[in-house]
Amino acid sequence: MYKLAVSLLEMDYRFLDQGLKEIEAAGADYVHIDAMDGAFVPNLGIGPRLIERIRSSTELVFDVHMMVQEPMRLAERMVRAGADVITVHYEACEKIKETLEGIQRMGVKTGIALNPDTAPEVLTEELLRQIDVVHVMTTCPGVEGQTFIPQSLRKIAILRGMLDNIRPGMDLEVDGNITMENVKQAAEAGANILVSGRALVKGNMTENIKRMKAVVEPLERGKLHEVCAWS
Ligand code: ZN
Repeated sequence: MYKLAVSLLEMDYRFLDQGLKEIEAAGADYVHIDAMDGAFVPNLGIGPRLIERIRSSTELVFDVHMMVQEPMRLAERMVRAGADVITVHYEACEKIKETLEGIQRMGVKTGIALNPDTAPEVLTEELLRQIDVVHVMTTCPGVEGQTFIPQSLRKIAILRGMLDNIRPGMDLEVDGNITMENVKQAAEAGANILVSGRALVKGNMTENIKRMKAVVEPLERGKLHEVCAWS
């Protein structure tokens, strides 16, 4: 099932409560929250205090993307603030398995994010069985104003193939300049959670969300049709 994740970083902070209610009413599924530490990535992102403040504004899933070196340091504060999913970077963890286990003990779902230059094969079967979501960066993390890297489509397709063998139907998230123009390609390659910032937030959020859903929903119906054809 396709899910739209709206990037909180791009929303207007003056009207966050209102904005969150609007995206929920428009049919968004996740609020995508980018945490950055100024070390793993050059920028600073959203911290637990803001997450805590807005948690009561919406029922949407809080999808926290930790662009943070050794994310275990901050994970507990993010969970206490209201995170539902914590995704850590493969490149940022010395001991990824133990990091994930520690976060899972806090009672939330977990994911692994891969930078554009990290090969999909680093995700072993053991890791894929441990996590809830694979997260593919389609731009370099934490740097503003980049364009979608077209080679990411092949990586998404490879990962979807790996998941089909090991855990069919598992969530595969794409993140990094997803627009009205490339969302269909990303979904067709195998992604089902689509993170988008500017394309959804700039202008009329309700209309943008409905428009992007209208692009991916026919693909969903196509998949259902495929399942029926096999049964
Ligand atoms: Zn992100």
